[in-house]
Amino acid sequence: MKISIVGTGYVGLVSGACLAECGHEVECVDVDAAKVASINAAQSPIHEQGLPELLERNVGSRLRATTDLGNAVRHSTMTMIAVGTPAVAGRISLQFVERAASEIGAALKDKRDYHVVVVKSTVIPGTTDGAVRRAVEAASGKTAGLDFGLGMNPEFLTEGTAVADFMRPDRIVLGGVDPQTQDVLAEVYASFDAAAPRLRTNNSTAEMIKYASNSVLATLISFSNEIARLCTAVGGVDVTDVMRGVHASAYLTTQCEGREPVTAAIASFLEAGCGFGGSCLPKDVTALIAQGSDFGLEMPVLRSVLQVNESQPREILKLAKKHYPDLRGARVTVLGLAFKPDTDDTRESPAFPILRLFAGEGAQLTAYDPIARPVENETMRGVKLAASLPEAVDDADIVVVVTRWADFCKLPAMLRAGNREPLVIDGRRLLPAAAFARYEGIGRQER
Ligand code: NAD
Repeated sequence: MKISIVGTGYVGLVSGACLAECGHEVECVDVDAAKVASINAAQSPIHEQGLPELLERNVGSRLRATTDLGNAVRHSTMTMIAVGTPAVAGRISLQFVERAASEIGAALKDKRDYHVVVVKSTVIPGTTDGAVRRAVEAASGKTAGLDFGLGMNPEFLTEGTAVADFMRPDRIVLGGVDPQTQDVLAEVYASFDAAAPRLRTNNSTAEMIKYASNSVLATLISFSNEIARLCTAVGGVDVTDVMRGVHASAYLTTQCEGREPVTAAIASFLEAGCGFGGSCLPKDVTALIAQGSDFGLEMPVLRSVLQVNESQPREILKLAKKHYPDLRGARVTVLGLAFKPDTDDTRESPAFPILRLFAGEGAQLTAYDPIARPVENETMRGVKLAASLPEAVDDADIVVVVTRWADFCKLPAMLRAGNREPLVIDGRRLLPAAAFARYEGIGRQER
């Protein structure tokens, strides 16, 4: 199928490259001419495992990029909207989605063939049948469900494993204003694993499935962090051991005779740490709370999820202050700026509130990430960016592990070799406590 995708960020570009790999003819559209040029040169503008190889194989044949949205829409059968939906002042901003929808509508005005418009961006329930439908209909003079198809196909990929997630989805949600839209959408995924359930539904349900999915993950993380705080307060109780016991429950682990028990992947969201970040969980929970308020609903569970998350970086500061009640002049190194490992995405990373808290105490700050390069902002002013892990930890008094990068597992050997004994605060419970002279971990307090 000829598919155009508007927005070539983490979702749009990965979707485009994967669909091209599956045999579709894909044209990716972006307003950012530099991204478009980079894609056409088969250079990935983002760090994502497997993506360079997909670009190498498909650019120039089944995959192209352009800034000309109208042309891309006119020469395709389906257009997916994958632009950003940032949270602005506690609400989802639809400005990019609405603009893309209107431009698509304008291109459809004189198009004779049946076309399907699909929203892939995460949008609040009611958006596709509301704002998107209005924008496309107003600009095209056509009617959804009659002259063109209108669908919603949420994306569940995770940065860091985006290509693998897209290629082997756990479910495919086919939202549509009518069965014809759903049929065309189903064709896009026809070659995907038949075992992945195809869920046909209406657009608003498809939108809610995505929000509910992200919200349950965020809830598990904040739940684990709340339990971790109590473990620390009680003393002699380690949250990692507690959660290992929780994982072993039959609800989360499948016992197969003669084989190792298999823990469900969701158990990884029960790992305590310094909080969730990224471009999805914080903004999606925020957006759902705002939608709840519009209907007079308090949404107390989700409010608490955010509240725990926003205060979690303070737990790191508390651990530091046990050893350094006065942090003025202390040399503090933050390891990891990406919000999770294997991505260069720093959006909403817990590293930033942690850096701000230590800056507020007068510490001297260094940061290091193997891949991510933060944009210049207020938080990064005055923070030294180290070029390597040894340089980052060289003369640190305190080392804080924020991102679960595999590279940071070298830390014990590196500190031993350099005869260094900084206080290591493990915000991800990544490293063995016994490997360090001075160690503190979230959710762990020795009696
Ligand atoms: P992103 O910020 O990485 O990319 C968005 C792209 O859209 C940018 O390149 C921008 O230049 C482009 N754009 C904006 N307006 C445009 C327009 N009118 N025409 C053409 N291009 C335009 O965003 P992302 O992380 O890929 O997220 C996109 C959507 O997918 C969001 O709604 C997000 O919540 C959702 N989502 C993201 C992830 C993820 O892991 N990043 C996972 C699932 C769903």
